[in-house]
Amino acid sequence: MKHYYQPEIETAPREEILKIQNEKIVKQVRYVYDHVAYYRNLMDKKGVTPEDIRSVDDIKKLPFLTKDDLREAYPYGLLGTDLKNCVRIHSTSGTTGKRVVAFYTQKDIDMWEECCARAIVAAGGSDEDVCQVCYGYGLFTGGSGLHGGSHKVGCLTLPMSSGNTDRQIQFMMDMQATILCCTPSYAAYIGESLAERGYSPEDNKLKAGIFGAEPWTEEMRAEIEKSLGIKAYDIYGLTETSGPGVAFECEEQTGMHINEDHFYAEIIDPDTGEVLPEGEKGELVFTSLDKEGFPLLRYRTKDICILSREKCSCGRTFVKMTKPLGRSDDMMIIRGVNVFPSQIETVLLKEGYTPNYQIVVDRKNNTDTFDIYVEFSKDMFSDKVSDMQKREQALKAAMRSMLGIGPKIHLVAPKTIQRSEGKAVRVIDKRKLH
Ligand code: ADP
Ligand code: ZN
Repeated sequence: MKHYYQPEIETAPREEILKIQNEKIVKQVRYVYDHVAYYRNLMDKKGVTPEDIRSVDDIKKLPFLTKDDLREAYPYGLLGTDLKNCVRIHSTSGTTGKRVVAFYTQKDIDMWEECCARAIVAAGGSDEDVCQVCYGYGLFTGGSGLHGGSHKVGCLTLPMSSGNTDRQIQFMMDMQATILCCTPSYAAYIGESLAERGYSPEDNKLKAGIFGAEPWTEEMRAEIEKSLGIKAYDIYGLTETSGPGVAFECEEQTGMHINEDHFYAEIIDPDTGEVLPEGEKGELVFTSLDKEGFPLLRYRTKDICILSREKCSCGRTFVKMTKPLGRSDDMMIIRGVNVFPSQIETVLLKEGYTPNYQIVVDRKNNTDTFDIYVEFSKDMFSDKVSDMQKREQALKAAMRSMLGIGPKIHLVAPKTIQRSEGKAVRVIDKRKLH
């Protein structure tokens, strides 16, 4: 028997979903125009009025929003309602310094948690399950999103947050967790750690995992499924649209169904901004159809993917997106955290270094390594090793405070980082993620 969290909508005929979308978009554009001065200005500049938007076909007339807009409008410029109507914020990396801060009303939280609940049920979850959530809690959306979804499904929820692998394993075994939610790298690491402790895959009660927030390959999926003895499901989302659960995988494991009653997806040419025909590869753009706190219209995710409306054997009718196949900007995701080279440069300059640096990212034993090589200037040099180590530690702390994760810093002699005649190669990413 097939299971859905909200079968009436998840399996609704296409026309019905379209009808819902058309009704919602008319209202939503009016709402945003009336409440968000920043976006009203963009619409005015483009000569579009709310009356021009009569169905989702008209969405292409609307202006785009990008991370730059988010930075410019920081912190309250894209807020859709009075702060007193908001009950929470979440936050993720911005491009330089300023973080993305998203606001949620209670209705927004309920919608988001329902999306996550759909993902958990699609992975076979029910109120019989014990759901171990080891995405990070806090400002990051991963923990809260899956946690809320798990409650809605009625699972016994283990709010572990990330890290402390010994404790994760102890709870997994003692509480007989059946569903695991975390980043795919952490899932792989837990798999290895179990094996190191002498457990075989049959020793745990896990049946499914819901993994996302960073790119992962089919090879990695196979490895995780084998080491944990589970079926591994992908989940996608971003803070700007709510968090994980914007799209989720079903048992077919051939792409993620987008929760189209809440998010309208377009694929555009990242260079021209033109909407591409279905089935073509391009940048994913989302319009939230009913958010109140942070109601972004035509938000450019910079994630490159393909949409497909092929019939899915699971019975769901929502359009499917492929795993993100790359990015149209230079954002890296390191240990699940968004990192922009520009943020690194900002810290270096603030700390008195020259912009001669190289970032090296790799994946070893399923964990991302993150190294920054930077030249010290002559006046920084000390022949006391401990002085140089202190400098490295200080720079690492400054990086951690900006990025949320700490790279390994290597201070190298002036003029040792290769100069480039063209565009400097600042980032060497050795991971094969796509
Ligand atoms: P999250 O908490 O989901 O990581 P962020 O807003 O911090 O949210 O980052 C969103 C970005 O993370 C997306 O734009 C995408 O590039 C990446 N991402 C999220 N989920 C996935 C996934 N399942 N596969 C690949 N990349 C993902
Ligand atoms: Zn499906």
